[in-house]
This record gives sequence, C-alpha cells and structure tokens, in this order.
Amino acid sequence: MRKKIVAANWKMNLNLSEGAELINDLYNGMPELSEHRLVVVAPPFVHIGQAATQLATMDHVYLGAQNCHQEASGAYTGEVSASMLSSAEVQYVIIGHSERRQYFGEDNEMLAKKVNQVLANGMKVIFCCGESLEVRDAGTENAWVETQLREGLFHLGEEHFKNVVIAYEPIWAIGTGRTASAQQAQDMHAHIRSVLTSQFGAEVADGISILYGGSCKPSNAAELFACADVDGGLIGGASLKAEEFIGIVSAMLETEVA
Ligand code: PEP
Repeated sequence: MRKKIVAANWKMNLNLSEGAELINDLYNGMPELSEHRLVVVAPPFVHIGQAATQLATMDHVYLGAQNCHQEASGAYTGEVSASMLSSAEVQYVIIGHSERRQYFGEDNEMLAKKVNQVLANGMKVIFCCGESLEVRDAGTENAWVETQLREGLFHLGEEHFKNVVIAYEPIWAIGTGRTASAQQAQDMHAHIRSVLTSQFGAEVADGISILYGGSCKPSNAAELFACADVDGGLIGGASLKAEEFIGIVSAMLETEVA
C-alpha cells in the first residue's frame, strides 16, 4: 500500500513566532492521519528546532527540510549538512526544487550527491522534477523529466530508492495560479511510474509515492488527488495558511489508498 502524502514547503517565509502560530493552528485543526496518509512540514532551517518540538506532539506529521549540502561536512560557510538535519529530528528533505535548480545552479549531478547524503543519514528524500513552459511547449516534457530522474536517482539501489518520494512540479504551475489539469498531472505521473518500473521493477515502482506540486489549493486538490498515479501534493503558497493547508490534507484523506 503506497503512502499518500501532503507536504508543506514554506520556502523563505514566516518568522519564528509566525511559524509557531501556524503549526499550532495545524495542531488544532488537523484531521486524523495514519501511517499511510501523512503530512510533512518543511520550514526554513532556522525554524527546525522549534518545529521539531511542536510536531513531536502530532501523530503522522513529520518534519522536513528544504535542502541540504552535498558534502558531509567542512568549510562551506552558510550551509547545512544532512547529518545536522538528521540530528535535529528531520525525517524528509526536499531535494532539487526548481527554485534551487534555477537560482542556485543545482544540476542533476549535484542533486544525486545530495540524495546520497540524505539517505546515508537515514532520512527520506522528496525529489522534485518538472519541466519549464518552454520544454512543455516543445512537447519534450516526458524526456526532460526522465533525464532528471535518471541523473538524480537511478544510481540508487532498490533498498535506498524505497526511501524516495517523487514530486512532479511543472515549473509553469509553481506560484503562478496555473495548475496542471488533472489529466496533464496523471499523464506525467503515469510516465514517471513507467520509467521507475523499467529501472526498479513494478513492485518497487508501485510502492513509490508521486506527489503533484504547482498551485495546488483546496479547490483543485480533490480532483488532482483522485488521479490513479497522484499520491498527494507538495504545497507552496497554500501551506502558509492553516485553513487552506488543512483543506488540502482533507482532500487527500478522501481519496482511496492504492
Ligand atoms: C512549490 O514550490 O513546491 C509549490 C508547489 O508552490 P505553489 O504551491 O505555491 O505553486
């Protein structure tokens, strides 16, 4: 039975008291989750200590981080390692978000190293992939995403790959208010699962959660999450408001677990 997951990516938003208030509101309103229907909250690094304490009181709501460095330790001023995150109770790390790729020059080779660091430190990876509008308009989005998966993840053996969650986030839908249609999302998610099947076999591929990200809201989440290969969402803007985020989590809870 594969997991349905709704993950919050706060990006570079909220100060400490705002973050504490948001988690408190989530605590008060979160519907009942389970081992197979869970939530991840990925705040900025500075929130992590505080968020770990707050989330420890919530069942099946896990602490995430938005990035880590690709080396284990050393003279990398301003950076944060995977082992630091693990020691701070982080359980999921988002790797390869399109904003990291675009603004911080993270390429697939670097991302493969980050993936290794996260997994070596006993955490799970939320690996982001997705195409630009230019690539979609050229009709080459399937090949684009396949290359991101191959170069970022396919060095992994089956045992490690089981600790990866994929997030398909078409760049043209992130923060734009323009969501991929349910059919566009399903088509890409099915493609991703077929690529995973050819690499790792059907049993492993069927167990991997593939999240959709890009202007997901309470009003469109149910339709997206009802798609056979969409196993939840990675949520940016709407994760900053407890009511909206809980609305999206509720949509996940209404879908059948595959
Ligand atoms: C994201 O950046 O991961 C994201 C999906 O953002 P938004 O929900 O704001 O489009």
